Amino acid sequence: MLKIGLTGGIGSGKSTVCGLFAELGVPIVDADLIARQLVEPGRPALMRIAETFGPQMLDDDGSLNRARLREAVFADADKKRRLDAIMHPLVYGQIAADVMALQAAYCVIAVPLLFESKNAYAVDRVLLVDCPVEVQIERVIGRDKLTRGQVQAIIDSQMPRSERLARADDVIDNIAGPERLAEQVKRLHNSYILLATARTQSA
Ligand code: ADP
Repeated sequence: MLKIGLTGGIGSGKSTVCGLFAELGVPIVDADLIARQLVEPGRPALMRIAETFGPQMLDDDGSLNRARLREAVFADADKKRRLDAIMHPLVYGQIAADVMALQAAYCVIAVPLLFESKNAYAVDRVLLVDCPVEVQIERVIGRDKLTRGQVQAIIDSQMPRSERLARADDVIDNIAGPERLAEQVKRLHNSYILLATARTQSA
Protein backbone atom coordinates (compact mmCIF):
# COMPACT_ATOMS: atom_id res chain seq x y z
CA MET A 1 0.00 0.00 0.00
CA LEU A 2 1.13 3.54 -0.72
CA LYS A 3 2.19 5.16 2.55
CA ILE A 4 2.04 8.93 2.93
CA GLY A 5 3.87 10.26 5.97
CA LEU A 6 2.23 13.43 7.26
CA THR A 7 4.25 15.80 9.39
CA GLY A 8 4.62 19.44 10.45
CA GLY A 9 5.52 21.57 13.43
CA ILE A 10 3.32 22.02 16.48
CA GLY A 11 0.09 23.79 15.56
CA SER A 12 0.77 23.64 11.83
CA GLY A 13 -2.55 21.85 11.30
CA LYS A 14 -1.66 18.14 11.18
CA SER A 15 -4.72 16.98 13.13
CA THR A 16 -6.98 19.22 11.05
CA VAL A 17 -5.53 17.83 7.81
CA CYS A 18 -5.85 14.24 9.08
CA GLY A 19 -9.53 14.95 9.73
CA LEU A 20 -9.97 16.09 6.12
CA PHE A 21 -8.27 12.97 4.72
CA ALA A 22 -10.41 10.82 7.03
CA GLU A 23 -13.56 12.53 5.66
CA LEU A 24 -12.48 11.33 2.21
CA GLY A 25 -12.34 7.78 3.58
CA VAL A 26 -8.55 7.59 3.84
CA PRO A 27 -7.32 5.48 6.76
CA ILE A 28 -5.16 7.42 9.23
CA VAL A 29 -2.49 5.82 11.37
CA ASP A 30 -1.55 8.22 14.17
CA ALA A 31 1.86 7.71 15.79
CA ASP A 32 0.99 9.87 18.82
CA LEU A 33 -2.19 7.94 19.48
CA ILE A 34 -0.32 4.64 19.16
CA ALA A 35 2.36 5.86 21.57
CA ARG A 36 -0.32 6.82 24.10
CA GLN A 37 -2.02 3.44 23.78
CA LEU A 38 1.30 1.66 24.27
CA VAL A 39 1.69 3.17 27.74
CA GLU A 40 -1.79 2.39 29.00
CA PRO A 41 -1.88 0.56 32.36
CA GLY A 42 -0.74 -3.05 32.11
CA ARG A 43 1.02 -2.63 28.76
CA PRO A 44 4.65 -3.85 28.65
CA ALA A 45 6.03 -0.43 27.62
CA LEU A 46 4.66 1.14 30.78
CA MET A 47 6.27 -1.54 32.93
CA ARG A 48 9.61 -0.96 31.23
CA ILE A 49 9.30 2.79 31.83
CA ALA A 50 8.66 2.16 35.53
CA GLU A 51 11.63 -0.24 35.72
CA THR A 52 13.93 2.21 33.94
CA PHE A 53 12.89 5.54 35.51
CA GLY A 54 11.44 4.43 38.83
CA PRO A 55 7.98 3.64 40.25
CA GLN A 56 7.33 7.36 40.79
CA MET A 57 6.50 7.47 37.06
CA LEU A 58 3.24 5.71 37.88
CA ASP A 59 0.24 7.24 39.61
CA ASP A 60 -1.60 5.36 42.33
CA ASP A 61 -4.02 3.88 39.81
CA GLY A 62 -1.12 2.44 37.78
CA SER A 63 -1.36 4.97 34.94
CA LEU A 64 1.59 6.92 33.57
CA ASN A 65 2.36 10.27 35.16
CA ARG A 66 3.15 12.03 31.90
CA ALA A 67 4.22 15.30 33.47
CA ARG A 68 6.79 13.52 35.64
CA LEU A 69 8.17 11.52 32.74
CA ARG A 70 8.35 14.62 30.55
CA GLU A 71 10.21 16.46 33.31
CA ALA A 72 12.63 13.54 33.81
CA VAL A 73 13.64 13.31 30.16
CA PHE A 74 13.38 17.00 29.21
CA ALA A 75 16.79 18.17 30.33
CA ASP A 76 18.56 14.79 30.25
CA ALA A 77 19.64 13.55 26.83
CA ASP A 78 20.64 10.14 28.15
CA LYS A 79 17.24 9.54 29.74
CA LYS A 80 15.56 10.74 26.56
CA ARG A 81 17.60 8.20 24.57
CA ARG A 82 16.58 5.43 26.97
CA LEU A 83 12.92 6.37 26.67
CA ASP A 84 13.19 6.47 22.87
CA ALA A 85 14.87 3.04 22.92
CA ILE A 86 11.83 1.65 24.75
CA MET A 87 9.16 3.43 22.74
CA HIS A 88 10.39 3.75 19.16
CA PRO A 89 10.62 0.07 18.19
CA LEU A 90 7.19 -0.56 19.70
CA VAL A 91 5.67 2.41 17.86
CA TYR A 92 7.26 1.38 14.53
CA GLY A 93 6.10 -2.20 15.03
CA GLN A 94 2.53 -1.21 15.85
CA ILE A 95 2.34 1.18 12.88
CA ALA A 96 3.57 -1.57 10.56
CA ALA A 97 0.98 -3.99 11.98
CA ASP A 98 -1.83 -1.43 11.66
CA VAL A 99 -0.87 -0.63 8.06
CA MET A 100 -0.74 -4.34 7.17
CA ALA A 101 -4.30 -4.75 8.39
CA LEU A 102 -5.65 -1.94 6.17
CA GLN A 103 -7.40 -2.32 2.86
CA ALA A 104 -7.18 0.92 0.91
CA ALA A 105 -5.36 2.48 -2.04
CA TYR A 106 -3.21 4.49 0.33
CA CYS A 107 -3.00 5.51 3.96
CA VAL A 108 -1.75 8.54 5.86
CA ILE A 109 0.70 7.93 8.70
CA ALA A 110 0.82 11.00 10.94
CA VAL A 111 4.15 11.45 12.71
CA PRO A 112 5.11 14.83 14.23
CA LEU A 113 8.84 13.99 14.19
CA LEU A 114 8.86 12.15 10.87
CA PHE A 115 11.95 13.83 9.42
CA GLU A 116 14.00 12.91 12.48
CA SER A 117 13.39 9.19 11.86
CA LYS A 118 12.02 9.01 8.35
CA ASN A 119 13.54 5.71 7.34
CA ALA A 120 12.11 3.90 10.32
CA TYR A 121 8.59 4.55 9.06
CA ALA A 122 9.34 3.43 5.49
CA VAL A 123 6.93 5.96 3.99
CA ASP A 124 6.74 6.50 0.22
CA ARG A 125 6.18 10.24 0.33
CA VAL A 126 6.36 12.93 2.97
CA LEU A 127 3.52 15.45 3.12
CA LEU A 128 4.29 18.56 5.13
CA VAL A 129 1.65 20.81 6.67
CA ASP A 130 3.22 24.24 6.71
CA CYS A 131 2.43 27.73 7.97
CA PRO A 132 4.54 30.69 9.13
CA VAL A 133 5.87 30.53 12.68
CA GLU A 134 3.74 33.48 13.80
CA VAL A 135 0.56 31.71 12.66
CA GLN A 136 1.73 28.52 14.40
CA ILE A 137 2.20 30.46 17.65
CA GLU A 138 -1.22 32.14 17.48
CA ARG A 139 -2.99 28.84 16.77
CA VAL A 140 -1.27 26.94 19.57
CA ILE A 141 -2.01 29.74 22.05
CA GLY A 142 -5.64 29.52 20.90
CA ARG A 143 -5.72 25.73 21.32
CA ASP A 144 -3.59 25.02 24.40
CA LYS A 145 -3.15 26.89 27.64
CA LEU A 146 0.45 27.85 26.86
CA THR A 147 2.20 31.19 26.88
CA ARG A 148 3.86 32.66 23.80
CA GLY A 149 7.26 31.89 25.37
CA GLN A 150 6.37 28.24 25.96
CA VAL A 151 5.15 27.81 22.39
CA GLN A 152 8.26 29.53 21.05
CA ALA A 153 10.45 27.16 23.12
CA ILE A 154 8.72 24.11 21.62
CA ILE A 155 9.09 25.54 18.11
CA ASP A 156 12.78 26.27 18.76
CA SER A 157 13.29 22.64 19.80
CA GLN A 158 11.80 21.40 16.51
CA MET A 159 13.35 21.32 13.04
CA PRO A 160 13.47 24.77 11.41
CA ARG A 161 10.68 25.50 8.95
CA SER A 162 13.09 26.02 6.02
CA GLU A 163 14.64 22.59 6.54
CA ARG A 164 11.26 20.86 6.69
CA LEU A 165 10.18 22.62 3.48
CA ALA A 166 13.38 21.55 1.76
CA ARG A 167 12.84 17.89 2.68
CA ALA A 168 9.13 17.44 1.95
CA ASP A 169 7.78 15.81 -1.22
CA ASP A 170 4.40 17.58 -0.95
CA VAL A 171 3.41 20.66 1.00
CA ILE A 172 0.03 21.85 2.26
CA ASP A 173 0.05 25.61 2.75
CA ASN A 174 -2.08 26.13 5.85
CA ILE A 175 -1.91 29.89 6.16
CA ALA A 176 -5.39 30.51 4.76
CA GLY A 177 -8.70 29.40 6.21
CA PRO A 178 -10.23 25.92 6.29
CA GLU A 179 -11.79 26.09 2.76
CA ARG A 180 -8.38 26.43 1.11
CA LEU A 181 -7.20 23.51 3.21
CA ALA A 182 -9.98 21.21 2.04
CA GLU A 183 -9.22 22.05 -1.61
CA GLN A 184 -5.56 21.18 -1.19
CA VAL A 185 -6.37 17.91 0.56
CA LYS A 186 -8.80 16.95 -2.22
CA ARG A 187 -6.16 17.67 -4.88
CA LEU A 188 -3.53 15.63 -3.06
CA HIS A 189 -6.03 12.84 -2.48
CA ASN A 190 -6.63 12.59 -6.23
CA SER A 191 -2.91 12.52 -6.96
CA TYR A 192 -2.26 9.84 -4.31
CA ILE A 193 -5.05 7.66 -5.75
CA LEU A 194 -3.44 8.00 -9.20
CA LEU A 195 -0.03 7.20 -7.79
CA ALA A 196 -1.34 4.17 -5.90
CA THR A 197 -3.12 2.90 -9.03
CA ALA A 198 0.01 3.36 -11.16
CA ARG A 199 2.06 1.42 -8.60
CA THR A 200 -0.38 -1.48 -8.50
CA GLN A 201 -0.43 -1.66 -12.27
CA SER A 202 3.34 -1.71 -12.55
CA ALA A 203 3.72 -4.29 -9.77
P1 ADP B 1 -1.26 20.15 14.94
O1 ADP B 1 -2.03 18.85 14.92
O2 ADP B 1 -0.29 20.27 13.80
O3 ADP B 1 -0.63 20.51 16.25
P2 ADP B 1 -3.92 21.36 14.72
O4 ADP B 1 -4.53 20.68 13.53
O5 ADP B 1 -4.37 20.92 16.08
O6 ADP B 1 -2.32 21.34 14.62
O7 ADP B 1 -4.16 22.93 14.54
C1 ADP B 1 -3.76 23.84 15.57
C2 ADP B 1 -4.93 24.78 15.89
O8 ADP B 1 -5.15 25.64 14.77
C3 ADP B 1 -6.23 24.05 16.14
O9 ADP B 1 -6.95 24.73 17.13
C4 ADP B 1 -6.95 24.14 14.78
O10 ADP B 1 -8.34 24.10 14.92
C5 ADP B 1 -6.47 25.49 14.23
N1 ADP B 1 -6.34 25.51 12.77
C6 ADP B 1 -5.76 24.59 12.00
N2 ADP B 1 -5.81 24.94 10.69
C7 ADP B 1 -6.45 26.14 10.65
C8 ADP B 1 -6.81 27.05 9.59
N3 ADP B 1 -6.51 26.80 8.32
N4 ADP B 1 -7.45 28.18 9.93
C9 ADP B 1 -7.74 28.45 11.21
N5 ADP B 1 -7.43 27.64 12.26
C10 ADP B 1 -6.79 26.50 11.99
